[in-house]
This record gives sequence, C-alpha cells and structure tokens, in this order.
Amino acid sequence: MEKKEQLYEGKAKKVFATEDPALCIVSYKDDATAFNGLKKGTIAGKGVVNNRMSNLLMRLLEQNGVPTHLVQELSERDTLVKKVQIVPLEVIVRNVSAGSFAKRYGVPEGIVFDEPTIEFSYKCDALDDPLLNTYHALALKLATKEEIATIERYAFRVNEVLKEYFLHLGVRLIDFKLEFGRLPDGTIVLADEISPDTCRFWDAETGEKLDKDRFRRDMGGVEDAYREIFKRVKGE
Ligand code: ADP
Ligand code: UDP
Repeated sequence: MEKKEQLYEGKAKKVFATEDPALCIVSYKDDATAFNGLKKGTIAGKGVVNNRMSNLLMRLLEQNGVPTHLVQELSERDTLVKKVQIVPLEVIVRNVSAGSFAKRYGVPEGIVFDEPTIEFSYKCDALDDPLLNTYHALALKLATKEEIATIERYAFRVNEVLKEYFLHLGVRLIDFKLEFGRLPDGTIVLADEISPDTCRFWDAETGEKLDKDRFRRDMGGVEDAYREIFKRVKGE
C-alpha cells in the first residue's frame, strides 16, 4: 500500500490517503510541541519510537478486547490504519496525580489514587482543548451516550492492560491520553497513538521520567528517555 495525497499534517504526524478509501497511512515525525504548540522542538528518533511502540501496544490491546485502527506497520515511521472519523474528545485516564490534575486541584504530583479517574477534553486547538463533562459532550453532540459509555469502558480496559504490562517492565503508568474514532459502520475503535508523547511513564525504582515531560519541562535527556522506554517495551 502506497501513500497518495497528504490529507492532513498535524503537530506530530502526517496522514496520507491510500488507493483504498477505507485506509490511510500515518507517518510519524520527530517534531515535538507542548502547551498547545507554544513550545516547539524536535526529538531525534521520536517518530520511530512512537510509531513502533504505539503499534506494539495496540496489538496487545487488540488481544485484550480493545478494537483499534491498526492494520499494518509499513516501515519505521509509517503505519497503515483504518480511516476513522475522530471523536473530538481527548480521553485522559489517571492512576497518579501529575501535570494539569496536580495544578488544577493544588495537589502534589505522585499521589496514588484508590481508583483510576477519567476526564474528557474537547479536542479543539483554537479553544485550547477545554475540559468538559459527558453532559457537555452530549450537548455539543460530540458523541452519543452509547458511544461515551463504550469509550469509557475501553479507556479503563486500556488502563488495566497497560498498567499491568508496564509494571512488569519496571515502569509505572501515571496517566495517558486516548483518542477514539468511528468506522463507517459506526463501530468505535481506539485510534491515534499510545506513546511517550501521550503517556506519563515513571521508572518504578528511581522515579525517573521516561516521557515527554522531559521535553515540556526542559529536563534534558529527552532522546535517552524515549530510547529507554522503547528498549523495555522491546524486551531488551
Ligand atoms: P494533532 O492533530 O493534535 O496535531 P497529530 O500530529 O498526531 O495531532 O496528527 C494526527 C491526526 O490524525 C490527529 O488529528 C488524529 O486525531 C488523527 N488520526 C489519528 N488516527 C486516525 C485514523 N485512524 N483515521 C483518521 N484520523 C486519525
Ligand atoms: N496528553 C496528551 N495530549 C494533550 C494533553 C495531554 O497526550 O493534548 C497526555 C499527557 O501526555 C499526559 C496525560 O495526557 O500523559 C495527562 O495530561 P495533563 O492533563 O496532565 O496535561 P499536561 O500536564 O500535559 O498539560
């Protein structure tokens, strides 16, 4: 399957049409942004790590009852996926306080929750992805009640599977963001990516951050962190 015209260029990926209208190719870049594009940079090798890691995790999720957009990894940076209509919600699951949660509620990072939390943001760069609840999502017709129920069920299932998986690799899954899409028949599937760009990973022994927070917070060692988490996922 070959790339045809470019349909979209985002902050971290490009999306191309293919000869099959039901499929597209996502191509992962090394470009990195944070704070809704305010901070820009590149992370050498990030595209390769995110592409391959996301595919590996999506395969694992498929085996554990979560349908995904993944069709086939084509190369280091390119993957064939089912073309979906993205549900414009960023679905965030948290096990431990960090980032905007810690800031919003005035608590330190690192508080372990008794139960995971879920929240939604309206995926809209112009509005800076505002937080919303399910009533707001319904009022704005972003998704139906049934779709939201399905999305919540899958999101918590993703958390169970990945939390367990990463713990075996000596990594704590702190929080992550998911995106879901609709296939032409209306089926909801997990889309976009699962990577150090979209998850917080803390080393279980040292607490070292192995994710994009190193870039967001100018901590240095960004490339090394992406390499390290990928090495563990590959089982090296
Ligand atoms: P952004 O749009 O936030 O800058 P990216 O650079 O990652 O993000 O761009 C990838 C775009 O492709 C995102 O808007 C994402 O919602 C969309 N996308 C992800 N998976 C699919 C898919 N299977 N079909 C169609 N669009 C997708
Ligand atoms: N996240 C993401 N894209 C976004 C916002 C958040 O992938 O646009 C991920 C982020 O990497 C983290 C989780 O979602 O793993 C929770 O992020 P948070 O709400 O704490 O926001 P941040 O601190 O990144 O602004």
